Amino acid sequence: MTTEKTDRPAVDGEGSVMVVTGGAGFIGSNFVRHMFEQTLTRIVVVDKLTPAGRLENLMDVLDGDRVCFVQADIADRAAMEQVFRDHRPTALVNLAAETSGPSIGTPAACVQTNLLGTFVLLDVAREYYASLDETARGAFRLLHVSTDEVYGSLGEEGCFSEVTPYAPSSPYAASKAGADHLVRAYHRTYGLPTLITNSSNNYGPYQAADKLIPQTIMNALDGRRLPIYGTGKNVRDWLHVEDHCAGLLLVLRGGRVGEKYNIGGFNERTLLEVVDAICGLLDLYVPPAKQAALASRGIATYAGLKTFVPERRRRDRRYAMDATRISYELRWRSQHTFATGLAQTVRWYLDNRGWWEAAMAAEGRASRERAPLVRAAGA
Ligand code: NAD
Repeated sequence: MTTEKTDRPAVDGEGSVMVVTGGAGFIGSNFVRHMFEQTLTRIVVVDKLTPAGRLENLMDVLDGDRVCFVQADIADRAAMEQVFRDHRPTALVNLAAETSGPSIGTPAACVQTNLLGTFVLLDVAREYYASLDETARGAFRLLHVSTDEVYGSLGEEGCFSEVTPYAPSSPYAASKAGADHLVRAYHRTYGLPTLITNSSNNYGPYQAADKLIPQTIMNALDGRRLPIYGTGKNVRDWLHVEDHCAGLLLVLRGGRVGEKYNIGGFNERTLLEVVDAICGLLDLYVPPAKQAALASRGIATYAGLKTFVPERRRRDRRYAMDATRISYELRWRSQHTFATGLAQTVRWYLDNRGWWEAAMAAEGRASRERAPLVRAAGA
């Protein structure tokens, strides 16, 4: 991949226009908020509004002027051409993806959105880029947001760097890997000024109810069992979404065109450790003894709701990220430790029960593990 420095990007100053695809989702809505607060750019959110995307996630910033919304599918070429024609972006950040239930039941949707959708975006961006004058071409950037899952699984030691070969395990990861290759190819072949980021597991406010951390909080508060699949010893690296968004902005501003950057939290935890940490915080914030529904069933600590269940599928054993490049080149540092980030996240879900109840209703509760209520022995 080439690593040349090109003209200065004008991604977030006055007069800039940023298209954010998938901006109504978990990371997308946090990113739009970050851009709203940290920059002067106009933001055009392009989102299909699958069950993972909700306009409510953007209610505090969506004013139709500085932040506007277009409901469209990134795989719809005519719609994407219209977006480029109408808004003349100075940058595009691609966060649209099919991420639900990591593709076990949705491989076709993964290929359609993650692979074909990214292809359509790239191809429309290529034509648009070719039509720009030299100054506008020098300033334009396309940032494609990807995942550590493209690298496959690690053993006990080591971590993924930007040169680790791709070895995706799931259809989701394979569709993301294919998209990354297309992005690289559009830079190499057509000179499109692209950037790629690969990040580890995000957590934080506005995450959908089918993901581990929100699901654990919600099930615990309802006194439902907390399923631990297999031994719960699979390791993930946990990155607070706000630290991820700060990294994306740094890459847009100063990343070397054609390069990729890993963004990791330096927070390796087993799934069991994550669930235990959440239970510890809930014990503190919402003591079970004061919760009639739990106390009456003899449940003294949320950890008592943990239930080991057989693995439903083979999972990657361990992911870990080496984020040296972004730290060294762009001075990125995570602001949250796992302890501070998780405490903030648990508090957010406690303070925003209306948000997640509405989210579950919108999803028809389909994605949430409706674990059974747990009864103490003899109760
Ligand atoms: P999400 O599922 O919360 O949001 C995805 C958004 O994309 C939703 O708003 C959805 O409506 C929209 N979308 C889906 N298909 C679309 C289509 N065809 N056209 C337009 N919009 C469409 O996902 P997320 O967790 O916010 O992830 C965002 C991006 O970050 C994805 O590319 C994902 O692969 C990547 N990523 C996520 C994580 C993580 O831990 N969540 C980690 C690394 C990378």
